[in-house]
Amino acid sequence: MSTGERAARARFRYAEWALEPVTDAPVTYTSRCHTCGEPCAERTDADTAERAALKHVGRTHHADFELSASRPYRARLTDPTGGAPPRSP
Ligand SMILES: [Zn+2]
Repeated sequence: MSTGERAARARFRYAEWALEPVTDAPVTYTSRCHTCGEPCAERTDADTAERAALKHVGRTHHADFELSASRPYRARLTDPTGGAPPRSP
């Protein structure tokens, strides 16, 4: 190895993670008009998001919408030690 070169070293290990819904954060619902792109504000229940879309229909006669729900998730390490390095056979 010449001067200025550095050996690259890395250590890898396997770890298992799981995704879990964040229980203290609400599921939120939104709608967006496909004709003009107007979004409605986030709502915490689906019925209210649908009613907001229908109000838009009443005002504009735009009939195509996207309704979406968003649920926050958090990744959690399932092995508190962070996982053991893989063993050689
Ligand atoms: Zn519209």
